[in-house]
Amino acid sequence: MHHRARKRFGQNFLVDSGVIARIVDVISPQPGDVLIEIGPGQAAMTRPLAESGAEMVLLEIDRDLVARLREQFAGYASVSVHEGDALRENFDELAGHRRFRLVGNLPYNISTPLIFHALRWSAQTRDMHFMLQQEVVNRLAASPGCKAWGRLSIMCQLRCAVTPLFDVPPGAFSPAPKVNSSVVRLVPHANPPVEVDDPEIFEQVVRQAFSQRRKTLRNSLRSLLDAPTMEAGGIDPGARPETRGLVELAAMSRVLAEQKRWLRTQ
Ligand code: SAM
Repeated sequence: MHHRARKRFGQNFLVDSGVIARIVDVISPQPGDVLIEIGPGQAAMTRPLAESGAEMVLLEIDRDLVARLREQFAGYASVSVHEGDALRENFDELAGHRRFRLVGNLPYNISTPLIFHALRWSAQTRDMHFMLQQEVVNRLAASPGCKAWGRLSIMCQLRCAVTPLFDVPPGAFSPAPKVNSSVVRLVPHANPPVEVDDPEIFEQVVRQAFSQRRKTLRNSLRSLLDAPTMEAGGIDPGARPETRGLVELAAMSRVLAEQKRWLRTQ
């Protein structure tokens, strides 16, 4: 039976067989791999991925599609279907506490929170391959000083190497989305590019610094650090957050952590 695409679940199904083949090719699934697919939908990518012999955990929110997937993959011992909201799932448990690979043509309405959620399991993740809005891939891969550089770029690059792979036009989907899409590869770092002692403080600094990106650090971080403390920590209070890279942001979070420790001892 024909499935009517549900907008609220961000359903844009891949229909271009050339694009599907290219995605499967860059993922290059192998027997023995554990693949979690977020939003398999009508199984456009799932089928060829499962044919590789890789073990697959399908995570789908739409009950109607879950029922179809269960039927479709009933004969596959290596495929399990899980009904749930990817934003609430524990990927480590879904993978049976084994190292896994994450794939998905993500629902664009929740792609950013989904990436943040996925990053929580980066230590157990071998790699991630996602189809996203091109604009989101540009943000993931941005460098300091670019307009696209911000919280998403920083939190992602702290954990992963980001490689944009190829662009996909709206016509590859049904219904066609309004925006261009891109496929991106994220590979968690074995060794992080900078040492962050306290990830919560780092996140707080990044959030605060980029909440008003046109302001200088002196102004945007005013409630956390004063200018003399920044200067003493080797940070220029007159700089704009959008020009600061991971190393400088990590330095700011170290200064703030030290200040908090010092205040506790007073
Ligand atoms: N993978 C299919 C394809 O490429 O044709 C479908 C991709 S479609 C862009 C996004 C899929 O994610 C849909 O099947 C949708 O139902 C599912 N989805 C949406 N929100 C979800 C969520 N929170 N958790 C799990 N799946 C979700």
